[in-house]
Amino acid sequence: MKLDDSSYRRIVDNLYEGLYFVDTNRVITYWNKAAERISGYTAEEVVGQACHDNILTHIDHQGNQLCFGRCPVAATIKDCEHREAEVFLHHKDGHRVPVSVRVSPLLDESGTVIGAIELFSDISNKSTNQLRMRELEELAFIDSLTQLANRAYVETEIETRFEEYRRYNVPFGILFFDIDRFKRFNDTWGHDMGDRVLRIVADTLTANSRPFDTFGRWGGEEFLGIVRNVDDEGLTALGERNRMAVEAAYLVHAGERLNVTVSIGASLVRPGDTPDTLVKRADQALYRSKRDGRNRFTLET
Ligand code: GH3
Ligand code: MG
Ligand code: MG
Repeated sequence: MKLDDSSYRRIVDNLYEGLYFVDTNRVITYWNKAAERISGYTAEEVVGQACHDNILTHIDHQGNQLCFGRCPVAATIKDCEHREAEVFLHHKDGHRVPVSVRVSPLLDESGTVIGAIELFSDISNKSTNQLRMRELEELAFIDSLTQLANRAYVETEIETRFEEYRRYNVPFGILFFDIDRFKRFNDTWGHDMGDRVLRIVADTLTANSRPFDTFGRWGGEEFLGIVRNVDDEGLTALGERNRMAVEAAYLVHAGERLNVTVSIGASLVRPGDTPDTLVKRADQALYRSKRDGRNRFTLET
């Protein structure tokens, strides 16, 4: 592969590590994107400045300023040796960022030193913390038993669907599921079997959903599905399919097949609805499914 100048430029511009070049007076001549990200300084702000001019002002672990006398870049320009160090650079916002730096001499064709290159990477916990935050965020929205979205997530999702409905008139519906006679199931087979059944129901609902629909755990043995871009018929078909799929699912325990059924109530968004009124109508339809014998689907009237 032959690289032209612009290819090199693109590669170093987009390196994950911070990279800058200085000339023999330690005036910065190049500053890549990662250097901007790690230090807070843009290329425009630093190119043409000396790196000890209140810009990076590296300090070591004891807090000693390295710029004058102990600067690794200056030393490398002097003796052409590669150097590595862990230092703290000054971030534009004021705080110190721990970085590991590698300095190499920059030579021209004849081997004369014309400056130095410093590569540096952020060794703070910042990125680990950001990852952790995302994990926590996810955890806060996931029901640990079933791995479905939890109620908090389902509630925000309903809000989002309302936004979409108000702005773009995209209809959506709610499927409210409640496991039938689940107390009796627990009493007969034990709470652990009950938990396994909850997971089976959750997996059944996910397996029978479309990618843009959301199924979550609303409460103990209650689940809620948000179905996008749907009408009466579509919602009924999906509800019936889920009802049948749960009825047909089972776990085997002591040679016996154990299964549960669900009752379902469904509602479709209407003008003037709020999340509360919409969910309440689905709940009322669910109540009718229970009253009429359970293992049933009822669409609101
Ligand atoms: P119905 O058909 O009227 O809904 O009867 P039901 O017994 O399902 O209704 P009820 O609301 O009286 O009981 C719900 C039961 O669900 C009570 C509780 O033991 C069980 N349950 C709720 N959360 C969990 C859970 O996390 N694990 C297990 N194993 N059971 C749970
Ligand atoms: Mg219930
Ligand atoms: Mg129940």
